[in-house]
Amino acid sequence: MTTNNCERHLKLSGLEPLVVTPETNFVNIGERTNVTGSRKFLRLIREEKFEEALEVARAQVEGGAQIIDVNMDEGMIDGVEAMTTFLKLIASEPDIARVPEMIDSSKWEIIEAGLQVVQGKSVVNSISLKEGEEAFKLYARKIKRYGAAVIVMAFDENGQADTYERRIEICERSYRILVDEVHFPPEDIIFDPNIFPVATGMEEHRRNALDFFLATKWIRNNLPCAHVSGGVSNVSFSFRGNDTVREAMHSAFLYHGIKHGMTMGIVNPQLLEVYDEIPKDLLEHVEDVLLDRRDDATERLLDFAEKVKGNGKVMARSNQEWRNDDLQERITHSLVKGIDEFIETDVEEARNQVDRPIEVIEQHLMNGMNVVGDLFGSGKMFLPQVVKSARVMKKAVAYLLPFIEAQKEDNARSAGKVLLATVKGDVHDIGKNIVSVVLACNNYEIVDLGVMVPPEKIIARAVEEQADIIGLSGLITPSLDEMVYLAKELEKKAVHTPLLIGGATTSRAHTAVKIAPEYSGAVVHVNDASRAVTVAGNLLHKGKKASYMEGVKSEYEKLREGYLSRSKSKSYLTIEEARKNKLQLDWKGYQPVAPGFTGVKEVTVTVEELEPYIDWTPFFKTWDLHGKYPGILKDEVVGDQAKELLKDASEMMEQIKKEQWFDLRGVFGIFPANTVNDDDIQLYDENGQPGLQFLTLRQQLKKSGKVPNLALADFIMPETTGTRDYVGAFCVTSGFGVDEKAKAFEAAHDDYNSIMVKALADRLAEAFAEYLHEQVRKHHWGYSRDEALDNQQLIREAYQGIRPAPGYPACPDHLEKATLWKLLEVEERIGVTLTESLAMWPAASVSGYYFANPGSKYFGLGKILDDQVKDYAKRRNISTEQAEKWLNPNIAAR
Ligand code: SAH
Repeated sequence: MTTNNCERHLKLSGLEPLVVTPETNFVNIGERTNVTGSRKFLRLIREEKFEEALEVARAQVEGGAQIIDVNMDEGMIDGVEAMTTFLKLIASEPDIARVPEMIDSSKWEIIEAGLQVVQGKSVVNSISLKEGEEAFKLYARKIKRYGAAVIVMAFDENGQADTYERRIEICERSYRILVDEVHFPPEDIIFDPNIFPVATGMEEHRRNALDFFLATKWIRNNLPCAHVSGGVSNVSFSFRGNDTVREAMHSAFLYHGIKHGMTMGIVNPQLLEVYDEIPKDLLEHVEDVLLDRRDDATERLLDFAEKVKGNGKVMARSNQEWRNDDLQERITHSLVKGIDEFIETDVEEARNQVDRPIEVIEQHLMNGMNVVGDLFGSGKMFLPQVVKSARVMKKAVAYLLPFIEAQKEDNARSAGKVLLATVKGDVHDIGKNIVSVVLACNNYEIVDLGVMVPPEKIIARAVEEQADIIGLSGLITPSLDEMVYLAKELEKKAVHTPLLIGGATTSRAHTAVKIAPEYSGAVVHVNDASRAVTVAGNLLHKGKKASYMEGVKSEYEKLREGYLSRSKSKSYLTIEEARKNKLQLDWKGYQPVAPGFTGVKEVTVTVEELEPYIDWTPFFKTWDLHGKYPGILKDEVVGDQAKELLKDASEMMEQIKKEQWFDLRGVFGIFPANTVNDDDIQLYDENGQPGLQFLTLRQQLKKSGKVPNLALADFIMPETTGTRDYVGAFCVTSGFGVDEKAKAFEAAHDDYNSIMVKALADRLAEAFAEYLHEQVRKHHWGYSRDEALDNQQLIREAYQGIRPAPGYPACPDHLEKATLWKLLEVEERIGVTLTESLAMWPAASVSGYYFANPGSKYFGLGKILDDQVKDYAKRRNISTEQAEKWLNPNIAAR
């Protein structure tokens, strides 16, 4: 190994020290506690299953990781919160905390938050010259003060280093600044000269590994005491799905990297082939690529890789060769790949081989679906693929049904009967439909009652069908109350069927605190289609159910205790006190921009116009693929899936445009307004006469220092200023036409496209809201006429003003929608209606207010105390019980 002429050694520590000396062969950095690299870890963090997430960390340390890399960079996660929580939890686990931590983030605030809670001497991953020298020095100084070591990426103002020359140029420049100007201890500097994929087929990638090795050697010889690290799995990116080749590649890369002076690397230590045990022929092909030894190295390795891919992985086959496999293999292949082209032919062939047609379902099809279930369960298949498999399965079953009925046979034995319903007043069903498909794939018989199902009907059908499980779904907060009511009714009727609770506003906490105590049967919160299968399996397994429910019950008991003690430990203000601490914007000299018109207007738009405004990230989330668009398309784990899904979506989008599937309608208004009595927004008509009021709610949590207790009314000028301000409101929909299309797909046994059309309609409704908001800012109201933002900036809401939506954290009161409907004549003008729970119908609709003040921002209301509920009842002129009904679920949900 290169010795790097240095007497000073990098010393890191967790509970135990880690000293990197010339005798240290190599330091493994565990990579699995990274939300961007591990789907499983991401899921655990998103669901706040920190206990299980800790197990991932523990497994790494047990598997040989000497440092663990922790990364929480994902759009849907509060990175600061997740990083600090996780690091604190690690600190209380001596067998994990034994090793030093690597705080990995591209956001400085997350890094700094991590540095403030981590114990021992950690490593920051990473800083670079990307944002220029000043930022680089600032961060380096802070890291030095926190006493951590640092990874420096070979990145500068011009981009990432991708040649040997650029690598050494940037590393040398970074080193000189750090050592000469910041006086950073040179042994605490670890360079990451960028490991990029090889064998990509691109000429300019041929030297990616070799240049890394050479740059490593140069750094070790010329930059005294500094170390070299890198993220190793990147190198084999082109061989995703082929672990044999990948592992060989990683080991060979490390072997050469270490020879050139690499001292540490981010790896999966449990998945490293021993260099000496790599088969000689494979090794030769791999090294030809890594060391760029032959012009045809890539093609040769690709050919060779085909031969060694085996080991149970699903690999795409480029041609129709699989049609020559035996019957069961063909059926399984069609199911796993979601190919419906040949399934009827194959099923017919199977039917001719068996005595009773039902056997084709019980044997051939179930064998295939079991493979699908296993692959999905072990993370090797993703939700969209499973839904496509279900489509093939349904098509096969539909083909067989007439034959089965002709023989008057019973249907196939099912794993159990599950009754599913979206509760009364709620119209959302994408999540429920996905759960239904996934359960059906696992041999459950599904009775789906659809949306807006009254509780009496759910109970009656559950009894009549002798359902083994009842699954309730809901998206809006009033649905939570419906679920509690249902639990109580089931209890009264002595029905003890296990209840599954799911949907966007449901939570484990709400299920534990509000629903479970009302019901003596089993109650389990499940918000993830893949988990629904396991949970249903546990509930229906006679041997397992008791111990499983014991686990759930004690977990919910803990959640209840936690909830109660947490709310006790926080202090709150009375509504009067909170109002005294309201946000006082400086209205002196503030002149509201008078809108181009006041009153109400209808608008329409084409899908073509909306397309550029679509935010695709939530679309992927709907399909359980997590990550930000467009980065998700390149994601190592879900990238291929995401691309395929987007391709299907784009194809449907073309049809939507060509055949005009949806009828897009919108309405909005801008009105003179002033805040009165602290929390109410008074609207005025053309003659200046007071009309309707928006009622806002105020935060009551006691804040420290000068932090105000916010209500949306704080962003509108008070009447006492003597100046009229303005407020806006809108409702847009892309939902007309959606249900017909979805039903047509369902009738054709095509759940995949039925879910797809709803997901796309939702995207268009959100895009419509974004588009109209822009039109309002730039034209109709015109307070930001010169605004020029691209879609990414719109998604980040980089504009002036907000469009809060009733039912969301700043204004959780759904009753406000009734006011919006009256004000804008929504139903009369565009046909969108409100259900009894104030859900918008059609489901693909969005409504909200417009606030233009530059100081306005989103916030969460938090808990509302009884005194505000009473006060609100008076303002609304309704009974306290009514007020509680509308506000309580909101309180419980947070
Ligand atoms: N690009 C996203 C936009 C929807 S989410 C998509 O396509 O799905 C953002 C919207 O949620 C905001 O425009 C606002 O209407 C609402 N919202 C977010 N946070 C809120 C809060 N704290 N209070 C009220 N409304 C909020």
